[in-house]
Amino acid sequence: MNKVKLSVFGLSLLTLSVAIYSCSKSEEDVPVTTTNEGAVSVTSVVQSKYTSAVTISTSGSSIVLKSKGTPDHVTPYWGVGNALYEAPTLAGQTLNPGNLQSQVFVMTIPTNPNQATTKEATTLGPIGMALNGVAIYNDREGGNLPVDAGTLLSFDRGGAHSGPGGLYHYHFTGDWIGNDDAKLIGFVRDGFPIYARKDKDGSYPSNLDAYGGHTGATTEFPNGIYHYHAANTAYLGGRFYVLKSGSYYGTKGTFTF
Ligand SMILES: [Zn+2]
Ligand SMILES: [Zn+2]
Repeated sequence: MNKVKLSVFGLSLLTLSVAIYSCSKSEEDVPVTTTNEGAVSVTSVVQSKYTSAVTISTSGSSIVLKSKGTPDHVTPYWGVGNALYEAPTLAGQTLNPGNLQSQVFVMTIPTNPNQATTKEATTLGPIGMALNGVAIYNDREGGNLPVDAGTLLSFDRGGAHSGPGGLYHYHFTGDWIGNDDAKLIGFVRDGFPIYARKDKDGSYPSNLDAYGGHTGATTEFPNGIYHYHAANTAYLGGRFYVLKSGSYYGTKGTFTF
């Protein structure tokens, strides 16, 4: 009788240890933050979602995107007389000098973006391309200083302004590319997509990492992909939200202009 009790106890211990083992094993096998990285091709979404202002080609394991970098929407930066000119609409708006100019943009991204072993900081200049071919910048201006309150007045309602050479670029969400919604805005140079402030279920993501992204399903990638989101904090308390700051999550491709 005692022997039977002992073996039942032994069996329970065995069951318990198997249960503990299975639990830790399955958590280890499904690392939520790295699901699908490198396994998801962005090629078909890049080909179908960029506007006709962007010429797409593939070359081996890279996608090449070419554009003139000019917006397909109204802005004061088109200059008086242009069909897409609109007079400044924002309080205190003070335009940067010069109208926007056509550029020669060539961005190369990986077909299968993957996490970089060593994360590289984004720098001044194009860090990605919006779906309309316009350049995406981080939250910095000349001297690698964060956009300040004075510079904030130079932005149009699209969250963009033009700089040296008439290079028009978005630093923020705005009235055209996405803002308080789950729109696909474009792709960052490391090949990962960037979205506006919400996820497709209408919620604000609560688990963004240090790079401003997380892994999950999006409208364009229903099986999940690592993707960035615009920050959900009003920049300097104003109307704009930073598109992307900090480091790239993946390895950046080239962007010449
Ligand atoms: Zn700028
Ligand atoms: Zn998301």
